[in-house]
Amino acid sequence: MSALWKEKDFVYLRSFCFRKQKALYNNERNCMKIKFLSLASGSSGNCYYLGTDTYGILIDAGIGVRTIKKHLKDYGLALERVRAIFVTHDHADHIKSVGTLGEKYGIPVYSTPEIHAGINKNYCMTEKLTSASVRYIYKEEPLQLEDFKITAFEVPHDGTDNVGYCIEAGGRVFSFLTDLGCITPTAAKYICMANHLVIEANYDDEMLKMGPYPKHLKERIAGPNGHMCNRATAEFLADNMHEGLEHIWLCHLSKDNNHPELALKTVELILRGKGICVGKDVQLAALKRNTPSEYIVLE
Ligand SMILES: [Zn+2]
Ligand SMILES: [Zn+2]
Repeated sequence: MSALWKEKDFVYLRSFCFRKQKALYNNERNCMKIKFLSLASGSSGNCYYLGTDTYGILIDAGIGVRTIKKHLKDYGLALERVRAIFVTHDHADHIKSVGTLGEKYGIPVYSTPEIHAGINKNYCMTEKLTSASVRYIYKEEPLQLEDFKITAFEVPHDGTDNVGYCIEAGGRVFSFLTDLGCITPTAAKYICMANHLVIEANYDDEMLKMGPYPKHLKERIAGPNGHMCNRATAEFLADNMHEGLEHIWLCHLSKDNNHPELALKTVELILRGKGICVGKDVQLAALKRNTPSEYIVLE
């Protein structure tokens, strides 16, 4: 559990979650189908698609354009359907293709002004973004893009600037939180709003401790501006589970310091300790590093 947490934050969150949940369920739910596909997740590259029947958006584009096109095509989705890319931060595993997608394919790239400045300074940006494709989004200022209401919010990580995204569409709320060192009250607020949650479970404590990484790298990963471990993610979820949360997808799993089975087992056990049954109360999956996840259609 993050040391940043205070008991009053939990009390506030529980009542906030309850009110939000009630509001969601009291409102008539829109019948639009929302589709979610993870194209890649992890330090070798991150890219997620969220769409309706006719169009969609990408969260991050940290894998090659050809791979993005191929994976989308495998699920009957053309790249032309992608109306915008929303970038979480300026690390290479999240931005590798934004230059080409923005400049060559004309897809607008949204992020904060600080992240945009960082993107164009990154070594991996062989094609820089120009004003033709740069779009700004400001933290906690929702942006309406057709059927999607998108809110960027601050997360603690060591990019130039770092955000998660909360996306409301079809009466549902998706929250994406990748690359964060701990769960701050702001991050917690958006986790607690989610019906569908993509959240980092980067490493297993013991594997990182015993593994081959140099000391400074281990400290960076485990630090408050690094990455979330399986246990910390699980403990937060167990303490803050709410009825409206239907899916949890664990993302950004480390190749060297984690295994999908271990991440799933850790989260499942800690949730069970609080009486939450995976498969019955909530669905849980670990997103794959180099291959797409199952294509999820949410009716
Ligand atoms: Zn990353
Ligand atoms: Zn990062």
